[in-house]
Amino acid sequence: MSVSSRGSGLSVPRRLADAVIGFTLLTTLSPAQAVDTLVVNARIYTMDAALPQAEAMAVDNGRILAVGDSLTLRTLSTPQTTVIDAQGRVILPGFNDSHMHPQPAFEELGPYGMLDLTPEGGVESHEALRRKIRRKAALVEPGKLIWGMGYNDNLVGGHPSASDLDQLTIQHPLVLIHSSGHRLAVNSAALAAAGIDAQTRAPIGGKIVRDAQGKATGIILETAKDLFKPLLTARPVPDEAALLEAYRRELQAFVDQGITSITDAAAEPERLAIYRRLLLEGFPLRIHTLVLAEHLDWLEQNIGRNEWQVPGLTLAGVKIFHGNSLSGKTAWLYQSYAHDPTYFGIPPKRNQAELDALIARVHDAGLQAAVHSNGDREIDMTLNAIEKAQAANPRPDPRHRIEHASVVNRQILARVHQLGVVLAPHSYVYNHGEKMVDYGTGRWDWMHPNRTALDMGIAVGGNSDYPISPAKPLQRVQSMVTRRARSDGQVYGAAQRVSPEQAVYIWTHGSAEIQHSETDLGSLQAGKLADWIMLSGDPFLVGHRQPAELQSIEVLMTVIGGEVVYRRERP
Ligand SMILES: [Zn+2]
Repeated sequence: MSVSSRGSGLSVPRRLADAVIGFTLLTTLSPAQAVDTLVVNARIYTMDAALPQAEAMAVDNGRILAVGDSLTLRTLSTPQTTVIDAQGRVILPGFNDSHMHPQPAFEELGPYGMLDLTPEGGVESHEALRRKIRRKAALVEPGKLIWGMGYNDNLVGGHPSASDLDQLTIQHPLVLIHSSGHRLAVNSAALAAAGIDAQTRAPIGGKIVRDAQGKATGIILETAKDLFKPLLTARPVPDEAALLEAYRRELQAFVDQGITSITDAAAEPERLAIYRRLLLEGFPLRIHTLVLAEHLDWLEQNIGRNEWQVPGLTLAGVKIFHGNSLSGKTAWLYQSYAHDPTYFGIPPKRNQAELDALIARVHDAGLQAAVHSNGDREIDMTLNAIEKAQAANPRPDPRHRIEHASVVNRQILARVHQLGVVLAPHSYVYNHGEKMVDYGTGRWDWMHPNRTALDMGIAVGGNSDYPISPAKPLQRVQSMVTRRARSDGQVYGAAQRVSPEQAVYIWTHGSAEIQHSETDLGSLQAGKLADWIMLSGDPFLVGHRQPAELQSIEVLMTVIGGEVVYRRERP
């Protein structure tokens, strides 16, 4: 790949008219219009059905001016034009992670920082978990909180109990957040600090797991996590400069993976203020946000205000939790879990009438509802509410979302399609496939239903649910193509495998559709924003021949709004 600034020497592209014939050209060109950037000799997979593959692309002022062949588009070049010779490499629209949770680890806090308990953070065994906690306990002043996030119970020998954790420290309250984010493992000091004793009742929608004697085991599910909120929020927070820097680093890591747009799927006013600051200072990323329903009053007051009209930032909708966790095995199901015929998961905290009222409010405010529902029984309640809201107040294309929709059946997807609902299913079988075991083999072909949804014409968006799985789109694409878990090499739900082409489509155009932003994003065609990436390999060739190698394809360049924002340094 070489990048050079050169032109044809003509101040006015003489053959401009010829150049654009045969291509969709939405922008009106003035004769003297310069072209900022010209990409030539590329293998561009556009994700535009009208012109699926092309060689060259002209970009001006952040948008795509034309897509076509190198020879023709070269005539648009002027001395000011930057010409990028892709040397035959693949170019795709930028990846769009349509559901994730930016959450910097704040190493700046030293001993008080969060422990990274994910496999990527080196915690792949029971021993590694113990070592990491012991090391931290030696650094942290007795009495102060130790907390960590992202442990994978399948790798660390199950969910540690309070008595397990007491062996590591009784001096510090210890709170470990499971990789699902929906359950905690805590030690006795943390139970005491949260005021949990034999009499404490769990809030509706949650559970304090107890032994036969009624003693809390240290396993805390769903809304019962709220009992630990005071403990977690009392932890030290970094100063503003450190906070901004931590976010800059975190978001840049996404850009380096070829991500050009994200959706923060649980946004709060404080984090929105951070995004606003970063985008105003020119940070290059498109950030859609689903604001937590707890902040609906705030959103209704703020959504139209000038202060939030920031380029790159969208207050896109409202995130509602209705139901529980798939990998935490708390999702509410019609049929029991495979490991226990008496267990159906935990019912959601809202009843149907309460959910109806909330979704109607969001719908009537003209907003997009994005409802977290995993279990079939939760999803049906969500669809009931959407159906009622739409019947009472028909909107042309409200495009309400269901986040995850992990356990479905044909009737559920038919309802989804009929209501114009869009989905953000998980793409994490590679990282968490083995968690599907407790759902029973009979369900696997109806879990994370990317394929059936596509086949039925339902829009699905690609997403990592980061930090639940790494924000590495090519690993996610591999996971969707193979449905093979890293831990045991098993395929979970072969019927929901998609082709490499479909997986990339989901991670680009599909995400734009569920974000309601497909007029600007999701494909490389004239008029759309110039967000694109260059790769070291061809995901379609590799994906068909050696799908397990998809994740080794590297991102060489990330471009957002026509600006190169990441370029891999050659080793
Ligand atoms: Zn999420």
